[in-house]
Amino acid sequence: MRHRVLRPPYCYRWAVLILTLVTVTTFAVAALRTSSAVGAPTAANPLGHATSTPARATPPPVAAEVVRHTDRPGRVVALTFDDGPDPVYTPRILDLLSEHDAVATFCMLGSEARRHPELVQQVLARGMRLCDHTVSHDQDLRTRSEQRITAEVMGGWTDLQIAAGRDVPVPYFRAPAGNWSERTSAVAARNGMRSLAWSVDSRDWTLPGTERIVAAVKEGVEPGAVVLLHDGGGQREQTVAALAELLPWLLAQGYELGFP
Ligand SMILES: [Zn+2]
Repeated sequence: MRHRVLRPPYCYRWAVLILTLVTVTTFAVAALRTSSAVGAPTAANPLGHATSTPARATPPPVAAEVVRHTDRPGRVVALTFDDGPDPVYTPRILDLLSEHDAVATFCMLGSEARRHPELVQQVLARGMRLCDHTVSHDQDLRTRSEQRITAEVMGGWTDLQIAAGRDVPVPYFRAPAGNWSERTSAVAARNGMRSLAWSVDSRDWTLPGTERIVAAVKEGVEPGAVVLLHDGGGQREQTVAALAELLPWLLAQGYELGFP
């Protein structure tokens, strides 16, 4: 009885060792497969150019209809900010939102996201959502070829991934100037992005004065509303000032800030 081999504790140790080996091998094979996929052409990266982020599977397709309401019922309002990120206004808007425990969706241009990746990361770190507003804000996008539309839409999506420095969800696409077409919505939907419209236009981009922006939102807002505002594309002092008035007002009216 001196050689009591493979008592229960040893059996368990062997089982654990074998299980560990199997797990490590599985992960190693998966990692090799992923790394060999880098450089393969994808919809997001048609030429298979090396990017600073690993290759990512295209998100599953979504419905191609245009969204104009919040993602849940009740007294919820979704604020959306277009044409950023902007080094002057985006941080101020983020601070105001955080002060009020509010969230919003940022429809960013790929060109600006590339210039200010730290702002894309800040927007994500504050719990906000990203929306692809194309690479270059071509307002006539709907009239372009399928190839050009794909380049603008998926180029914007790719710019956001690179700026974020990791794989990030981009659940929405907003056509420049709201010029949707079946084609732009179809390209976005195929790549996992819902076309995002709005139900309240603050018209802040016309620089009508803070009070007019505030009045337009107060007048138009209702449960489920999606509000169009801008954090980039020009002088946005009026938008920032309007937001400082609107956030406490919305909360006092019993609204919660949410997502489309
Ligand atoms: Zn825009």
